[in-house]
Amino acid sequence: MEHRLVCIRTNGMPTSLETAELLKAKLITSGFEVTEEFTDRAELLVSIGGDGATLDAIHQYDFPTMPIVGINTGHLGFFQEFHPEELDEFIFNYKEGHYSTQELVTVQAKVTTADDSEVIHTGLNEVVIRGSLSYSTHLNISIGDSFIERFSGDGILIASPAGSTAYNYSVGGSIVDPRLNLLQVTPIAPMNTTAYRSFTSSVLLPSDLTLGIVPEYTRNDSTYILTDGKETLYHNLKRITVGFSDKIIKLIRFESYDFWNKVKTKFL
Ligand code: NAP
Ligand code: MN
Repeated sequence: MEHRLVCIRTNGMPTSLETAELLKAKLITSGFEVTEEFTDRAELLVSIGGDGATLDAIHQYDFPTMPIVGINTGHLGFFQEFHPEELDEFIFNYKEGHYSTQELVTVQAKVTTADDSEVIHTGLNEVVIRGSLSYSTHLNISIGDSFIERFSGDGILIASPAGSTAYNYSVGGSIVDPRLNLLQVTPIAPMNTTAYRSFTSSVLLPSDLTLGIVPEYTRNDSTYILTDGKETLYHNLKRITVGFSDKIIKLIRFESYDFWNKVKTKFL
């Protein structure tokens, strides 16, 4: 008989570790093999924690290609599909193939540094570009081949559909159904005066367009790039190109999963 290997990762919290132990025992009883070390041979990655834990898992394992299922022991749990009380239900439905796979596109920023090397940052939720905290930042922004605006404000956020409900939503962006393939560019505290002019709402871009960003250094040469909440500081970077990445994240969903119902239960 072929071995069906499942990888379990937790955020290290006591309830998550307990849930992992219980799940491991139940999976083994149901004929699966379990590993706590990541391997490409696993057919499924179980992420126990909240959304933050699932984002950490995705980054730690460099955007794994196998499906991921989240068990929510965290707070919001938008990516998470099961509660710790539903382990039997999860294993039964998974074994029977009673689930759907939600494919989530990801966003990437290609940074051209001061010495002309290139660094790529990938996010499942978003990429944020901002200056150092207390100064406004000035960014020359083009879409495709057209120069659009000199943005001035705290920064700009480029959200994937999956990330539209996270930071993007807090700064006034729209919630996007993940079946739509688009990037949402949301300004963070844009200035809009006779001195500075920028779009004040989000703009939506199709999957084949990229956004070009060239910072203008006024007070200092710092630029922060954040992907899914983790920041990297650059000095004198030359250019950032933001677009879709070719990495796709697959999430396991119950057959009853409905995106808008999830939005309603988590937000309203
Ligand atoms: P965190 O600061 O603990 O997370 C902020 C909240 O965002 C948590 O409640 C988290 O859920 C939730 N969240 C994460 N991804 C989401 C999604 N796709 N849809 C809806 N809610 C989502 O940091 P974290 O848990 O490591 O998450 C990183 C994310 O935090 C970043 O990608 C960014 O989107 C977001 N963030 C938001 C703000 C803001 O709203 N002002 C500021 C910074 C970062 P859990 O409770 O289940 O972890
Ligand atoms: Mn969190």
